[in-house]
Amino acid sequence: MSPEIEIYDTTLRDGTQGEGVAFSVADKLRIAERLDAFGMHYIEGGWPGSNPKDIEFFAQAKHRTFKRARLAAFGSTRRKDVPASRDEQVRLLLDAETPVVTIYGKTWLLHVLEVLQTTPDENLAMIGDTVRFLKEHGKVVVYDAEHAFDGYKDDPEYARATWLAAQAAGADTITLCDTNGGSLPGEIVAITRDARSMLTARLGIHTHDDIGLGVANAIAAVDAGASHIQGTLNGYGERTGNCSLTSVVPIVHFKLKKSSVPPDSLVQLKELSQFVDETANIRPNARLPWIGAAAFSHKGGTHVNAVQKVIRSYEHIDPALVGNTRHVLISDLAGRSNIVMKARELGFDINNATPQVREMLARIKELEHQGYEFESADGSLALLIRRALTAAPPPFTVDAYHISVRRDGATSVCEAVVKVRIGEESEHRVAEGDGPVNALDTALRAALIRYYRQLSEVHLTDYKVRIIDSTTGTAARTRVLISSSDGESEWGTVGVNDNIVEASLQALVDSLEYALVKDQVKDTAAAVQAV
Ligand SMILES: [Zn+2]
Repeated sequence: MSPEIEIYDTTLRDGTQGEGVAFSVADKLRIAERLDAFGMHYIEGGWPGSNPKDIEFFAQAKHRTFKRARLAAFGSTRRKDVPASRDEQVRLLLDAETPVVTIYGKTWLLHVLEVLQTTPDENLAMIGDTVRFLKEHGKVVVYDAEHAFDGYKDDPEYARATWLAAQAAGADTITLCDTNGGSLPGEIVAITRDARSMLTARLGIHTHDDIGLGVANAIAAVDAGASHIQGTLNGYGERTGNCSLTSVVPIVHFKLKKSSVPPDSLVQLKELSQFVDETANIRPNARLPWIGAAAFSHKGGTHVNAVQKVIRSYEHIDPALVGNTRHVLISDLAGRSNIVMKARELGFDINNATPQVREMLARIKELEHQGYEFESADGSLALLIRRALTAAPPPFTVDAYHISVRRDGATSVCEAVVKVRIGEESEHRVAEGDGPVNALDTALRAALIRYYRQLSEVHLTDYKVRIIDSTTGTAARTRVLISSSDGESEWGTVGVNDNIVEASLQALVDSLEYALVKDQVKDTAAAVQAV
């Protein structure tokens, strides 16, 4: 059944235009997987014509299966005076081998005449030819009408002609874009309504937040007949950002009460938002509506139980519905459900009443208090759950290590010494590296590889360091997040310490331990069940 409102996520394309937002190919693949699991209808992966990283993303994404989402490649209409079939940028869109292709074209005569420096008729032909070419190649085509509102305000007849050109050529969705982000909801409503009355294709909306109306304008367009919303998680995007899907998705579900992403996904919204922030290495914005840490914080009194009813009357919705928590009352129940959900994902058959869940929750809260984050450290969380549910010893332990750095002429060299225990055996290794973490990683693997051949497949795909604010008056701490892959799956691990090397070692050890136990987790789970 097709949803009343389609959600089109462009975090990986328009979102990366935002200041400070950069994703590696591995990051993009992990985010795409999470967006798919959440239930986004479309994931725009990038613009293959604009950079090699996006070409690489699509080359790797071909080998992934997405459960629900359809992957889209983004590009522009053909260049002027060149057939679509001979336009290199359009060819790259086909090479991406995505089911959906989104192209943008010009609505505003100012851009046609002065930026493209072509004629109004050639622009119409560029739109029609490109859409037709992509349809002939079996693509679902989303046509993004750039500057749709500014163009319409300048010359409504010409704006309509561009949309009709896309529709006549077979575009499945025509998206009106407020590219400069300066339109008012009243204007959005009037122009969207006019487009709705003259077009039969699905109508989409793409807004920017330049005057703080990105989300409001998208919702206004829905009221006027749009049924496809483009935006980014956490509102990432150029200048002040895009329409934030982390607001749009719950508004569509809870306020407009229209079908969209799977209703079960809403409780994962905060986790998804934090996962993307962690991956981008951006400090989560506490003031984000719905899922920010402050979104449901109350300066409550001391009698928490007594004022609970009063607090609820000051909330537009129960925060747990979007995975958030009320600040004065940490919802024990929501926390438990999250752990149980994670454990079940790993194959452990447990429920809210399983006795160890309380211990796990206490342990996680304690670690979070110390600065750990588990949103993108699924490997470390899995190990924590496994340790709580089984008495199985870890596959190895680091007994000792030593790191030294020396300068040799112009280059500095790091040397790591590690002593590792594997059952009854002990291994002692020395390795050099281009930094302390690299040296440590190399020495650790050298010690373990004889016992665990499968570690030769494991490699680090990303390493992120964040200095955590000290709000408790102690020294600033360092959080290290490591992403690893064995070619089949990817996982994240975390370490926190006052010392960056120690924090890195924790994350490294977790990464290798998770690689060794991840396939056994299901067996252990079965054993727990049998007890
Ligand atoms: Zn945009």
